[in-house]
Amino acid sequence: MTYNAHEFDAKEVVGNDRDHVWHHITQHKPFENADPMVIVKGEGMRVWDAKGNEYLDAVSGAVWTVNVGYGRTEIADAVREQLVTMNYFAQTAGNVPAALFAEKLVSKMPGMSRVYYSNSGSEANEKAFKIVRQIAQKKYGGKKYKVLFRERDYHGTTITALSATGQFERKNQYGPFTPGFVEVPHCCEYRPQSDADLENYGVWAADQIEKVILAEGPETVGALCLEPITAGGGVIEPPRGYWDRVQEICKKYDILLHIDEVVCGLGRTGEWFGYQHYGVKPDIVTMAKGVASGYAAISCTVTTEEVFSAFKEDDDARMGYFRDISTFGGCTAGPAAALVNMEIIERENLLDNVKIQGEYLRGRLNQLQEKYDIIGDVRGKGLFAGFELVKDRETKEPVDESLPMAIAAHCMQNGVIIGRTNRSFEEFNNTICLSPALIATQADIDRIVDAIDAALAELA
Ligand code: PMP
Repeated sequence: MTYNAHEFDAKEVVGNDRDHVWHHITQHKPFENADPMVIVKGEGMRVWDAKGNEYLDAVSGAVWTVNVGYGRTEIADAVREQLVTMNYFAQTAGNVPAALFAEKLVSKMPGMSRVYYSNSGSEANEKAFKIVRQIAQKKYGGKKYKVLFRERDYHGTTITALSATGQFERKNQYGPFTPGFVEVPHCCEYRPQSDADLENYGVWAADQIEKVILAEGPETVGALCLEPITAGGGVIEPPRGYWDRVQEICKKYDILLHIDEVVCGLGRTGEWFGYQHYGVKPDIVTMAKGVASGYAAISCTVTTEEVFSAFKEDDDARMGYFRDISTFGGCTAGPAAALVNMEIIERENLLDNVKIQGEYLRGRLNQLQEKYDIIGDVRGKGLFAGFELVKDRETKEPVDESLPMAIAAHCMQNGVIIGRTNRSFEEFNNTICLSPALIATQADIDRIVDAIDAALAELA
């Protein structure tokens, strides 16, 4: 059989999927009585399933990935040309798209200089953690190896990336975890800690990080790893004052600042990177999803020249360099797709569109909040939004998890795919998430919010 994306028996595909494919983060029991969804086509903001149903995708491939939208033939053409010219050689040597993309990428990241290629957000973060540990060996006698991460942030699915994740509901079945990863408190202004200084919550929340550093011993802390805006943990933007204080603290204790841009990177929030809204100067930046909008697997761990230089020192010719490889970091499809992806974002002025449509989306969600008491808080930046559903605005008690699920199902019936945070073991998991492609128009936003409005009118 020669595979052809247009010629298949939809019934056979759905049957094969049900019988043999293990879906991600999915309970399969319902598939005993109902067909799994199989997506067969995408175009712009829309996807179609094997049964011919059309959906407006408000979450860019379910997990905020397809930033430039579906069906971009120019990305596919560039990848095809690249693959038939030179598909793979390990990154022990260079290749054309990897070299060109690295330069283009760091040109949008003042202060950053080196790009290390791998294949997923988790892997990019693992590289960052290894860089921190090796620098600890090189410069601090192995002592400064700990990585701090924040409650509610997510950094990936592998055991160590999960060890650096602040979401109980994702972790609780997979311990024991990698030692050396230490949690700091979240910074969600809507749900402040009981002893918080509400007037100066951003600075207060950052000060809690300092407390953890002092408790652990600053000489043991190598890095602080943060999402610019917590994504899957509840769409949480750090409050005013937070980032300045975080940077002061990192400087004071000689701690590397690692920003995880896996979700926010490549335009999602209206700047190339989320951290650029806040004047942050990171030492390490990781990214994945939007780098090639899902047209090929690629992730990057980007560092300053200073971080990179530590691995050039000839203290030990055999051990001094970064002793790490990612086999498929040498696939050329990823950087070829990523180059065209970035060109599209520039040519179509998508950062501006994100700012404009993001404002509009926020405005419409704020209107919904006025209409429905059940919406406790609306959050986000650019085309990255979330709102929390609460039983009571005073107590902020989260709704039961069945409600966000029912709202998502109602929207799906209505032809709109929205997202929601994970199963509800605790507060924050009652958040509806929206992250449409950066090409979204006002009409798309209206269609998305109208679908949510209809769902809330019936279910809230
Ligand atoms: N970091 C963040 C902030 C993420 O949201 C994700 C994925 N949801 C990851 C890392 C892990 O990325 P991947 O699934 O590609 O390993």
